[in-house]
Amino acid sequence: MATNDALDVKAIRADFPIFDRQVHDKPLIFLDSAASSQKPLQVIEAMNSYYRCCNANVHRGVYTLSEQATDMYEGARKKVARFIGARSWREVIFTRNATESINLVAYSWARANLRPGDEIVNTEMEHHANIVPWQQVAKETGAILRHIPVSEEGLLQLDSLDTLLNERTRLVAFTHMSNVLGTIIPVKQIVEKAHAVGALCLVDAAQSVPHMPVDVQELGCDFLVFSSHKMCGPTGMGVLWGKRELLEDMPPFMTGGDMIRRVTLDSSEWNDLPHKFEAGTPAIAEAIGLGAAVDYLSALGMDKVRAHEKEIAAYALERLSEVRGLCVLGPPDAELHGGLAAFTMDNIHPHDLAAILDAEGIAVRAGHHCAMPLHHKYGVAATTRASFYIYTLKEEIDALVEALYKARQLMTRQVSL
Ligand code: PMP
Repeated sequence: MATNDALDVKAIRADFPIFDRQVHDKPLIFLDSAASSQKPLQVIEAMNSYYRCCNANVHRGVYTLSEQATDMYEGARKKVARFIGARSWREVIFTRNATESINLVAYSWARANLRPGDEIVNTEMEHHANIVPWQQVAKETGAILRHIPVSEEGLLQLDSLDTLLNERTRLVAFTHMSNVLGTIIPVKQIVEKAHAVGALCLVDAAQSVPHMPVDVQELGCDFLVFSSHKMCGPTGMGVLWGKRELLEDMPPFMTGGDMIRRVTLDSSEWNDLPHKFEAGTPAIAEAIGLGAAVDYLSALGMDKVRAHEKEIAAYALERLSEVRGLCVLGPPDAELHGGLAAFTMDNIHPHDLAAILDAEGIAVRAGHHCAMPLHHKYGVAATTRASFYIYTLKEEIDALVEALYKARQLMTRQVSL
């Protein structure tokens, strides 16, 4: 149960077996949770226990094992529904990841509803997962793509909505938190404006659901997507939440077993929600693992998770600002900045920097982080990204800064040789 105290990070770290290992004879410092988080024993054991004790297919067997597996699988869905404030578990569709969830809406809702000349509003700070599906939809339907610009300091220029939104806008698809800039987006503000012109809103919550309280009723959006693997859960598991009336009206995304009520040789009728969108045998162990991850995070308290990350982000922004030649992208204020910092440093290529940090046992991400248009906007091909989570310690930020100084020394020595 959540208490009023701050997160007990040392106790949390004891739940993550990976922190027992060393990398290049150094203790592992994992600063890449925005790509995929580490997993606590509670999640690993929940999946293990399903395979050891209850392994069977779901929804089909009229025998104990299958009924138990079904209860565990559907139980996980109810946990997810509660976690994000869904009105009903029927609104929670299990997919493989956030990318598949967006594609589901793009294939099902968008292709059935968009006509030539309709408009989709996207932003300049999206992950490719929330760009490419809309480009494809636009090509196929004749819809037009528009973009909310990003300012120099990494904020969405929301005043542009007054000119971007109009009666032709059908969908606004945008991130809740940028995976490069760290910017936290005022979702409600966008939703209110989009709804005022009759457009729907899809929120890419891949970087928010793991890190802060997210309530779909409060946000007021129409669709929301996220991945299990960024929130202590397993890979191969994602969520699409959608308003029931929209999901009811949408055609299936994939077809086959489990998503039907009745099949004849010539035609089929679809199953009820959420099964209409879950064709074939689902990722059962993974859903159970996600359920355990939700339990784990809920027990910590999402307010406390956000408070911890805000503190770490503020500390990291301050410490990184001491490093000469280092430039962090995104808003300097930790209030607006989630738990990550993407930066450039002098002329050192992010891949070289990441390799040098790896030699110190520090794992960071280098590259375009699946946000090439955003990097292009800032005139850089790549950045180095350090990202934080419930297990990140301030000492690890200190170690990162030390290693960055070391990298600078090493690279300047090489240049002068
Ligand atoms: N959106 C954002 C903001 C992300 O950071 C990511 C993962 N990097 C995704 C979408 C895609 O997530 P996945 O690869 O799990 O589908």
